[in-house]
Amino acid sequence: MRIIFNPGLFFQVSSFMFTKIILQRLAQTEPVITRLKQMQLQTKNSLDWFEFPHLAEHPGLVHAVFTRNHGYSNPPYDSLNVGMHVGDATETVRRNRAAIVDCLGGWELVEIHQVHGTHVLSIHPGAVGNTADLFQGDAVITNITGKLLLIQTADCQPILLYDPVRQVIANIHSGWKGSILNIIQKTIQNMVDNFACRPHHLLAGVGPSLGPCCAEFIHYQNEIPEQFWGYKDARDHFNFWALSANQLTAAGVLSRNIHISGLCTRCRPDLFFSYRRHVVTGRCAAVIGLRGLGANP
Ligand SMILES: [Zn+2]
Repeated sequence: MRIIFNPGLFFQVSSFMFTKIILQRLAQTEPVITRLKQMQLQTKNSLDWFEFPHLAEHPGLVHAVFTRNHGYSNPPYDSLNVGMHVGDATETVRRNRAAIVDCLGGWELVEIHQVHGTHVLSIHPGAVGNTADLFQGDAVITNITGKLLLIQTADCQPILLYDPVRQVIANIHSGWKGSILNIIQKTIQNMVDNFACRPHHLLAGVGPSLGPCCAEFIHYQNEIPEQFWGYKDARDHFNFWALSANQLTAAGVLSRNIHISGLCTRCRPDLFFSYRRHVVTGRCAAVIGLRGLGANP
């Protein structure tokens, strides 16, 4: 039997194997596990919310990932639903949102129309623009105090960013589409370009969302580009927490400044809404805001 060495084929195969190994290494990067940090549960006015310990250290910042409990909505939106367009009564959603704002001390709630895209909205002094365009997107950034940036989720990742040097905040909505489009990188680039942030100053918190325990994609070959298949296990479950951690570090965020809640929304219907579990359901609120110096907020 003659074995003919084909340099071109050898290069293609070895290149493919090398890429696959690199992707697998990235997907299984050990520090992701060490970045899982226990969030702290807080309670006030009968509402419950989680905080990231590294963000809670900063008195100039308010942030919260609220549970689904102790709101006004009836099933299947029970009960602290902040989603306006999921079938719940508008007036009830307004009451839930008002309860959140009251609980945190009075803020202007900033909502964006989330569309699973990559448009990043910047709110800074002097910003002008068409209101409809201004508020459609999946990430929002500001350096203005008193604005509470809201992201609504039921399995998607809310990702909170804070630059304590420049006093800039961002809130990102990243579902699986946002993950493969890398909205994290686009948001951080916007913070660099428009707010003079430096990525190594940023603190990041990846909130409760669909974990690798439940993120099964049986049609992944049609839905998810091959470059991300290294994040898949043998059961076709994807680890989007690991992908976010890697996207944050690739954008320049220091590993020690990245905290991942490790709470899976589908596994915890007692705490969170989950689209995967219930389809018709509410949306949880993740918020972040800058206090004025010496003022409340
Ligand atoms: Zn799960």
